[in-house]
Amino acid sequence: MTHPAQPKASHFINGAYVEDTAGTPIPVIYAATGEQIATVYAATPTIVEQALSTAKEAQKAWGKMTGTERGRILRRAADIMRARNHELSVLETYDTGKPLQETLVADATSGADALEYFGGLAGSLTGEHIPMGEDWVYTVREALGLCVGIGAWNYPTQIACWKGAPALACGNSMVFKPSETTPLCALKVAEILHEAGLPAGLYNVIQGMGEVGAALVTDPRVDKVSLTGSVPTGKKVYAAAAAGMKHVTMELGGKSPLIIFDDANVENAVGGAINGNFYSSGQVCSNGTRVFVQKGIKEKFLARLAERTGAAVLGDPQDEATNFGPMVTENQMNIVLGYIEKGKEEGARLICGGKRADMPGFFVEPTVFADVTDDMTIAREEIFGPVMSVLDFDTEEEVIARANDTEFGLSAGVFTNDFSRAHRVIGQLEAGSCFINSYNDAPVEAPFGGVKASGVGRENSKEAIKHFSQVKSVYVRMGDVEAAF
Ligand code: NDP
Repeated sequence: MTHPAQPKASHFINGAYVEDTAGTPIPVIYAATGEQIATVYAATPTIVEQALSTAKEAQKAWGKMTGTERGRILRRAADIMRARNHELSVLETYDTGKPLQETLVADATSGADALEYFGGLAGSLTGEHIPMGEDWVYTVREALGLCVGIGAWNYPTQIACWKGAPALACGNSMVFKPSETTPLCALKVAEILHEAGLPAGLYNVIQGMGEVGAALVTDPRVDKVSLTGSVPTGKKVYAAAAAGMKHVTMELGGKSPLIIFDDANVENAVGGAINGNFYSSGQVCSNGTRVFVQKGIKEKFLARLAERTGAAVLGDPQDEATNFGPMVTENQMNIVLGYIEKGKEEGARLICGGKRADMPGFFVEPTVFADVTDDMTIAREEIFGPVMSVLDFDTEEEVIARANDTEFGLSAGVFTNDFSRAHRVIGQLEAGSCFINSYNDAPVEAPFGGVKASGVGRENSKEAIKHFSQVKSVYVRMGDVEAAF
């Protein structure tokens, strides 16, 4: 019998599901059991061509509609997503393995927020009037044209919406390629957008590995590329886009610092460290995986952290009592287990977890290492799994320097009850998305993105509008034209 997660077809192009079984088969494996639950086929050159040509053509009329008309469709899609949240969350859980307890509140809901927010903004995208004496300049905010979105596997619904909603609000069309690991959810986003009245061809989803992404990025018809992925992929995609002088947004990886001062509320700091390391089983780019704890509260912090981490419920992700799921793939599980071994070998002190969970699926226990030093592999490289490194520090000046000593700069957090210190420290941290007495909040109203190797551009908020549109300026002369000859 066909599994309920099996999509109607692999691709969604020009307002309809499209299949082409000539492409490489991509098995979809449920991470909680290791079973194959669906198959999709990588896009062939014919499919890539269909998606690009349809998106290029459809954009012309969409860009000419009023923002209010475009916004109405996006807001309708938000309503449909909310109404279907349970079904979409179950699918997100099959696609990623993340527990339903999480997907019910973090995925389709976040996607719907983006559709509603950018739908609301669409009608307010205007230019400026700049007086120049009797002459004037006016500016027009225009669509970029055809945008490509490429997603990572940790938030397949959210990423499809975070890229699609602002792109469409600004009058662009999109071809979206999900990660080959999680190909299912973006198809539902496309289906819902069209159910809400989106004209055919404006939001297309095609499957495939990196080479399909590369074919999209290098196509001369594409005006913008928005990638969520790792730093090495980001460097390749950025370079390929630069060759065609395309606009880019790069949402890449991190190794973010979370700094806990002696005066912090310990329960809140432990809660922040748990949210910043173990949500989605640690598969979150903005995670605060280097937890710097001031020496005065170190043992108290570690004791409460171990106690609360012991309460994680590993199990069937479709059971709402489960709050900790598996790694997305067997490969990712092995990468994470490799880092855990490195942590042990390099002398970090294991506080809890530290191995594969004794159950089916790709579960790794939530793991905490203490006495981690800056040079250890687990403190330098992005693990993308449930492995928290706790490092000690003495002074504010010292911890700021150590926190910034990384190629990454996605996020950073500070826990302290001294508000001048909180702002002073955040002001010196090299990161794009920061938190004071909290960690990992990502409301659509706030810009999200990194500095240094963690990325270029911002998603969400009004900032995203700047990255999916361009400004034309028009000088209007009222008098005669003066010329030298
Ligand atoms: P990858 O970088 O491996 O892949 C990202 C996407 O790019 C996938 O769809 C992949 O396809 C595609 N891709 C790979 N090579 C190319 C290429 N040459 N040209 C075009 N596209 C290509 O990342 P993961 O999927 O493994 O995701 C994990 C990473 O994403 C982590 O490093 C994490 O930090 C980062 N991330 C960043 C976020 C942010 O907002 N800053 C949010 C979430 C994750 P395929 O996988 O099918 O081969």
